[in-house]
Amino acid sequence: MNSTVVDHEIIIVGAGFSGIGTAIALRQAGFDDFLMVDDADGVGGTWHWNTYPGIAVDIPSFSYQYSFEQQRTWSRVYAPGRELKAYAEHCVQKYGLRPRIRFSTTIDRADFDEALHLWRLRTGDGEELTARYVIGATGVLTRPKMPEIAGAERFTGTVMHTSRWDHGVDLRGKRVGIIGTGASAVQVIPEIAAEVAELVVFQRTPIWCLPRPDTALPPLVHQLLALPGGKLLTRWMSQAFVELTFPLAAHYYRVLPMSKLGERTGLAHLKDQVDDPGVRAKLTPDYALGCKRPSFSNDYLKTFNRANVHLDTAPITEITATGVRTAQAHHQVDVLIMATGFKVMESGNMPTFDLHGTGGVRLEDWWDTHRLQAYEGVSVPGFPNFFTIIGPYGYNGSSYFALIEMQTRHILRLLRQARRGKATKIEVTAAANDRFFQEMLDRRGTQVFWQESCTVANSYYFDKNGDVPLRAMTTPEGFWRAGHFDLNDYTFDRLGKRDSTPATATRAAVH
Ligand code: NAP
Repeated sequence: MNSTVVDHEIIIVGAGFSGIGTAIALRQAGFDDFLMVDDADGVGGTWHWNTYPGIAVDIPSFSYQYSFEQQRTWSRVYAPGRELKAYAEHCVQKYGLRPRIRFSTTIDRADFDEALHLWRLRTGDGEELTARYVIGATGVLTRPKMPEIAGAERFTGTVMHTSRWDHGVDLRGKRVGIIGTGASAVQVIPEIAAEVAELVVFQRTPIWCLPRPDTALPPLVHQLLALPGGKLLTRWMSQAFVELTFPLAAHYYRVLPMSKLGERTGLAHLKDQVDDPGVRAKLTPDYALGCKRPSFSNDYLKTFNRANVHLDTAPITEITATGVRTAQAHHQVDVLIMATGFKVMESGNMPTFDLHGTGGVRLEDWWDTHRLQAYEGVSVPGFPNFFTIIGPYGYNGSSYFALIEMQTRHILRLLRQARRGKATKIEVTAAANDRFFQEMLDRRGTQVFWQESCTVANSYYFDKNGDVPLRAMTTPEGFWRAGHFDLNDYTFDRLGKRDSTPATATRAAVH
């Protein structure tokens, strides 16, 4: 590695949990020359930006943490957002990452320099950073999506997106409208309902809302977790719960129709919580559980029993200077909360910067032509030395932490192999990528997403081609594959050498 050629061997874009987990894995594997960049002024990604009232994780904290850095002091089974932000800061501190992070730095564009086998990254300030390898750790729920509703610019009140909450806005006694009923709204609505004068909830598609097995974890539990095997036991129980309720339920629905049981639980929860049958009917989803990301709350549904909370399910026709007009009524509001989610499978999000690979091809354009795909969710042919943590067919629905550890395991095998063979360019073969993509498509037969009713769910799991680029496998399988994929699925080239070197030949040359 010629350090005079590049600023850093590796640049990680993103200092959320994906970036932090990658950085720790790199350090532990002896890859010390890396830089993390993030456009935020602090670490934590999602948990840095999202601070809306009621924010908490929907995966038990025993699983929503790194396996190698398990805390036993979570205050609840489902940790509140501020604890996750603190956990991110703790990890950065403990693993000495802070000096490796450049905050308030946006990466706008990255170009692969084929002659020198390196990436040239351009920051928002026009600065160029170079790296042999780039790891995209920009998350997936990153780019807030504002709804395109006529008249939005005319509104004279306050507007905020849930992921950019303005804590300077006092909602007490105000008339508030909230557009959207996804996971963010489900947490915000019960939290603010009691303090506002009126709350109008604009629902387009009802969300499946399941009870949340949440409870406070008092000091006694923290002490029990400190006993030998305590953390291990809770971790395994939690992992099994998560695996059963998402990856298995989603990808093996035809084998194990767990979501049918979930639907019965959801309907009973709705009946328990909502008094008015008319309101209940409006809150009842008309698509199968699993088509879109469900929510978990013990408070959301019953909020609709409050006299100051109104549910309008008629289509929004316009935003006016003073409120929101639907096909049913005009609602005057002082504050409008956009709980309208994120760009997920849309362009400009995966990754959040413009990436140009071999021949100057833009990744977005490549995906437009070939559909969203990435070998094991990590690599794309034509984009050498670039690896993603959350790429198409990367995320299987388990805890993001499982995914991060899985993908870094894959990436580290590549980096070690390149280092052993003094390679400077790593690229997945088109054949391996095609094989993986076909395998993911072939696995659709057992997934929950292909039921007829999913067409009306408005689910962001589906991309514009109608694909669901989620990793169709269990977490243990993903881990196994990260450690055992054939290194010959990649080529390892060395600067100055003309031909691609298969992994086995590189190994032979080294040993
Ligand atoms: P979301 O799930 O995408 O929900 C967006 C909501 O806004 C939907 O109800 C959508 O309706 C509605 N909407 C969007 N544009 C609209 C328009 N023009 N008119 C009317 N309604 C509109 O977004 P989110 O709630 O922010 O959640 C995103 C993801 O973040 C979640 O799925 C989850 O993965 C994650 N999250 C997790 C937690 C947690 O762990 N506790 C909390 C929050 C978020 P349609 O359904 O009709 O499109």
